[in-house]
Amino acid sequence: MTEETSPRRRRPATELVHGGSLRSQFGEMSEAMFLTQGFAYEDAEAAEARFKGEAPGFIYSRFSNPTVFMFEERMRLLEGAAAARATASGMAAVTASLVSMLKAGDHVVAAKALFSSCLYVVEELLPRFGVASTLVDGTDLDQWRDAVRPNTKAFFLESPTNPTLEVIDIAEVAKIAHEAGARLVVDNVFATPIWQSPIALGADVVVYSATKHIDGQGRVLGGIILSADEAYVTDHLHNFLRQTGPSLSPFNAWVLLKGLETLEVRVRRQTETAAKLADLIAVHPKVSKLIYPGRADHPQAAVVAKQMKAGSTLIAFELEGGKDAAFRVANALEIVKISNNLGDAKSLITHPSTSTHQRLSEEARLGFGITQGLLRLSVGLEDPEDLAEDLLAALDAA
Ligand SMILES: *Cc1c(COP(=O)(O)O)cnc(C)c1O
Repeated sequence: MTEETSPRRRRPATELVHGGSLRSQFGEMSEAMFLTQGFAYEDAEAAEARFKGEAPGFIYSRFSNPTVFMFEERMRLLEGAAAARATASGMAAVTASLVSMLKAGDHVVAAKALFSSCLYVVEELLPRFGVASTLVDGTDLDQWRDAVRPNTKAFFLESPTNPTLEVIDIAEVAKIAHEAGARLVVDNVFATPIWQSPIALGADVVVYSATKHIDGQGRVLGGIILSADEAYVTDHLHNFLRQTGPSLSPFNAWVLLKGLETLEVRVRRQTETAAKLADLIAVHPKVSKLIYPGRADHPQAAVVAKQMKAGSTLIAFELEGGKDAAFRVANALEIVKISNNLGDAKSLITHPSTSTHQRLSEEARLGFGITQGLLRLSVGLEDPEDLAEDLLAALDAA
């Protein structure tokens, strides 16, 4: 296998198409899918050398596979990371990134506005194994500072947050984490690698659910962990993944590699459409509140301008009439589908309080700004005019 390399650092759109490509002796143009569990060795000595790490090559697809490696490399080059490891899902990436760096007696500080499974990991799972956690309002830097304890080892946040699209100052939180001797892990799903580069802002580790924009066509689950520092991967993460096995299937890695080729054009187009739709929804009389990073009225507009290249493919908005009005709008939509996924080519609408955040108490939801009237819209690749007509007709029906 030969790897396509370049002496120059290439721009994101180029890495998305070519980065990390390996070619077999057949010179195939499209990346090959290596659906194989294991690899044959020339002789027993070759197997020994590979196991000892003295010779390069793949051993077993639980922890090394050429197709998965191409996906990891393409993401690593795009993100400007030192090392990357793919996982079976976004949640496998979040869990592995934290569990592999923590032990009993350590403490984690996390922004409380988290994807609900991430909240489970921080609030319920880690404490069962002796890792204490403190949840803070991520937009309030003093709360991060005040939560630090002598044993704080990790900070965790998402920005923009799900579903209320709050934006957290990554560079400032990274400074507080580093002063405390802790690593900052950023879940960058909502921003996408196109609009925000947490490592460049000071984060130590970045995680993605590749299920979202990276696939972008609603087909497969996948995740990836990227690190600014190779030692975290070689000393902690690699062994954790190798021995516990939350591996990405080579088939899914191949789908995700092909998804990456169009990531930039999709995200750019989806964001342009979302910005137009946000302006339209914001002035509708039935809408009491609209949150869109990229609009001047976003609560953290200055932070958005500082750390994101553009807004978002997602919009959050609240209806006057609570749950009944929100359900009427969702049910009246014809093009936009009701679903809890996001980042898809198809536009999707979610009512967080009865779906993605249904597990939480009403009080906890309100603490994150998730009211009964809140809807989250993930903007797809349909014609912007058709989406505008669909949304306006549904809002009028509310
Ligand atoms: C979807 C999502 C996850 C979980 O990813 P899966 O691939 O569904 O496991 C984690 N964090 C955020 C912000 C997400 O949107």
